[in-house]
Amino acid sequence: MTVRPRTVTVRQLERGDVLPSYDWPEAATVWGRVRSLYGLAEDGTVPVVSPWGANTKLGKDRAYPVVGLTLPAATSTLVDGGRVSLCPCSTPQCRGTCLVSSGRMGFDDNERARLARAHLLARHRPEFLGLIRRDILRELRRLRKLGARTVGLRRNVTSDVAWWLVDPTFEPWLRGVADTLGIAVVAYGYTKRRELLGDPAADLLTYSASERDRLADIASIVDSGQNVATVLPVGRHDPMPTTWHGLQMIDGDASDYRPADPTGVVIGLRWKGKARKLAPSWAGFVKPLEAV
Ligand code: SF4
Repeated sequence: MTVRPRTVTVRQLERGDVLPSYDWPEAATVWGRVRSLYGLAEDGTVPVVSPWGANTKLGKDRAYPVVGLTLPAATSTLVDGGRVSLCPCSTPQCRGTCLVSSGRMGFDDNERARLARAHLLARHRPEFLGLIRRDILRELRRLRKLGARTVGLRRNVTSDVAWWLVDPTFEPWLRGVADTLGIAVVAYGYTKRRELLGDPAADLLTYSASERDRLADIASIVDSGQNVATVLPVGRHDPMPTTWHGLQMIDGDASDYRPADPTGVVIGLRWKGKARKLAPSWAGFVKPLEAV
């Protein structure tokens, strides 16, 4: 009988019915084996969570070190033929412009590493959840020695998973670690999932607008006290408007550290890379500066 490779979705992950493994040496052995499936060195000591400075997307703001987890965006195919889908509300244009859309950056070592992490998550969840703790603990200790008092944690650099549902035991664990080390850890990220906004258990979330959102949608989220990030046709060296269709706007490229933002504002992001090829439109990913 042929066994069909399994597809793993965010909804399945968020059942929260799997506990992390604290057998870190054993988990590291599993991680090393998974890495070798993707042509990477069989080395389970390699972190699953990127230390501060390892990810250029998280290195812009020097005020707060940020530790991040980078997984393949949207839906990816694993070496066993199964699939893993980590952005349940992604749209064609966000997938098309996302920095790490599967298959769009070539199958380089970074892409292999992202897929290996996704494989570990999909097929060995206790080990994945355990190794996240190992790596965060290791990094917090290092940063504490360097003098950090506040550290950002982005578990969705390029995914959209409600990690507090995947592993409800993580937050109490993290609080205990942070208290012991005398360090504040602020978990934050972007989401395209409106149902997660306002969840008191959630990370500090900024809603990320897409072609699904018109001005009225953005305004209603901002009016509720949440922040919305949107891409605008503003050049790299051009100033970001301070208001946008009656809404207060801040320059989202000035800092990546979203916890420092005021609430109830629009975060303006300059169009870059593939987004520059999109015509600004209310029905598009890049929103127009003008009202029409
Ligand atoms: S939802 Fe976010 S991470 Fe996922 S494909 Fe879209 S832009 Fe990329």
